[in-house]
Amino acid sequence: MGRKYGQHFLSNPSILERIATAACPDGPETELVIEIGPGRGALTEHLLKRARRVVAVEIDTVLVHYLQNKFRDFPNLTILHQDVLKTDLAAYGPAVIAGNLPYYITSPILDRVFAAGGSWQRAVFLVQKEVAERVTAGPGSRDYGYLSVQTRLFSEPRILFAVSRGSFRPPPKVESAVFELVPHEVPAVRDTKAFLRFASACFRQKRKTLRNNLLAAYEKDAVDALPQAGTRAEQLGIEELAAIWIQLAGREIAQGHRAEVES
Ligand code: SAM
Repeated sequence: MGRKYGQHFLSNPSILERIATAACPDGPETELVIEIGPGRGALTEHLLKRARRVVAVEIDTVLVHYLQNKFRDFPNLTILHQDVLKTDLAAYGPAVIAGNLPYYITSPILDRVFAAGGSWQRAVFLVQKEVAERVTAGPGSRDYGYLSVQTRLFSEPRILFAVSRGSFRPPPKVESAVFELVPHEVPAVRDTKAFLRFASACFRQKRKTLRNNLLAAYEKDAVDALPQAGTRAEQLGIEELAAIWIQLAGREIAQGHRAEVES
């Protein structure tokens, strides 16, 4: 098996069990798990013991055939031969989402999860350790950036445990970690897309001040009027960023331009 599609298979049973337990802490009471990238079904086996139903999304034709054969006696497993980036994760009802992710598309997968709105109950993912640190970082930390803000807009993130390279076949070049996301009932702002465009502008160049980053997108007068203009975005939590955004967006809307910030 090559490394196409970020294929590094977990071979450590205790790690597999820990991921499945984190995804389904209520054991067989867990109604549905959507697994992203089941590969040869190592994690799937553990999830099937803990959930009533598993929907597994795999892109690789060879692996899909392998899985169909391996799990032919499991009517509670649905294997979707599909690109997860084209899968509607909200289509199967309230679900836990889990997986040892293909690392090269971690961010687009998170976009997809967050786009699933109120339909996911928890997410547990194994990813590159640096990415887990960026996803879970809080303001003031070295790793805090756009990905952290996006994550905290929709959920409460937490690193669960590290996974060494030796737990995979073949071993990846990077260290790995498992993190959990618990979704907020309601995101911190109503127009999440417009707010994330603003957040992206704030973190355009991480070492620069808000003023320098925002001048590319907003009127100079409006930016200069911000009390936090000299601050860096990496020091500001969601509530503070949202307050600045509302101040700027309100002003832009009042002046009747910049459709991108209408909320
Ligand atoms: N879950 C298995 C394990 O832990 O042994 C495999 C994990 S491997 C890191 C990632 C899996 O995601 C591979 O099986 C790969 O084929 C699959 N994959 C990669 N890109 C995908 C995509 N866009 N949609 C669905 N599955 C994908």
